[in-house]
Amino acid sequence: MELKNCESCGAVFVDPVRNICRDCYYKEEEAFQKVYRFLSQKKNREATIPEISKATGVEEELIIKFLKQKRLRASEFPKLTYPCERCGVPIVEGRLCGDCARDLEQTLSLQLEAERIREEKRKQHEPVYYTITKDKHKRKRDR
Ligand SMILES: [Zn+2]
Ligand SMILES: [Zn+2]
Repeated sequence: MELKNCESCGAVFVDPVRNICRDCYYKEEEAFQKVYRFLSQKKNREATIPEISKATGVEEELIIKFLKQKRLRASEFPKLTYPCERCGVPIVEGRLCGDCARDLEQTLSLQLEAERIREEKRKQHEPVYYTITKDKHKRKRDR
């Protein structure tokens, strides 16, 4: 069995699936239940992450983690947004907003295109085959 360091507290533990130790797992589950119970109340359905954090004592980061894990769904709770990792606009899933995701995709495909052109040019400048054959002929004749 492989030893791991808990992502949350750093303790060494063994678990084939989870990235956090048993203690932290139970703590997170407890936190999740708290958040979920809070949100289940009709009056809290439109609470924002800071409001939830304040009311439940659960860290905002952890609430965002639940969102990213899709355990909390923005479709059910419209105010559960967190900042895009690139530009900071509020998003409800993934790590980037739609614009940044598109931007990044475009940059990536441009990079790939540039790569392809470089590769093409490199091929064109490779020594051409017939010069080698010519040399061979030359050498033969020289002998
Ligand atoms: Zn831990
Ligand atoms: Zn963004």
